[in-house]
Amino acid sequence: MKLVLATHNAHKVDELRKILGPALEGIELVGYDGPEPVEDGETFEANALIKARAAAAHSGLPAIADDSGIAVAALGGAPGIHSARYAGTRVDADNVALLLQNLVGASHRDAKFVCAAAFVHGSIEHVVRGEWHGTVLEQPVGPNGFGYDPVFKPAGLSVSSAELRPDEKNAISHRAIAFAELMPFVREQLVEG
Ligand code: IMP
Repeated sequence: MKLVLATHNAHKVDELRKILGPALEGIELVGYDGPEPVEDGETFEANALIKARAAAAHSGLPAIADDSGIAVAALGGAPGIHSARYAGTRVDADNVALLLQNLVGASHRDAKFVCAAAFVHGSIEHVVRGEWHGTVLEQPVGPNGFGYDPVFKPAGLSVSSAELRPDEKNAISHRAIAFAELMPFVREQLVEG
């Protein structure tokens, strides 16, 4: 049974394959090369569903997608769904610099990474959310990860998420939490139903 992952990003297909591990038994996860839909939803969930619907419609196969970002409490949840283009570019360092600048003088630095994970198969649609709580550091630190990882310190840890090894991050991240919840539903529909 094939399952399309609605992303053009080969790195993400690879990362998801690692996160999902045994949950993919009996399922072949394939990339998506169709048109990218306009992500004009107002929530992570809406945007994940838009991506999964587009991939399912184009491929004729069941599809999964995710939409993610960082939400900072003192900024009213910003950058949220706009995380990838917060600074107006798609450059991670620009986004991180703007976030740190906007937090100067903030009374607290609570934040969470959010990931909505969606599954679409014909008329069946299911979307769930994973949240990874922590705080925003004063300075970027750590060589791994991407995006806001160098300034995100997960609650209960003394390092940034960019200081975690990929397998450590993949075991506890917002993406891991969301897909751990989504995959039993997907398996029920595709292999165990
Ligand atoms: P998208 O889900 O591919 O649209 O990514 C949204 C944006 O949120 C990324 O470009 C990053 O800036 C940020 N983001 C999402 N997940 C992570 C993460 O695990 N670490 C760091 N930044 C993330």
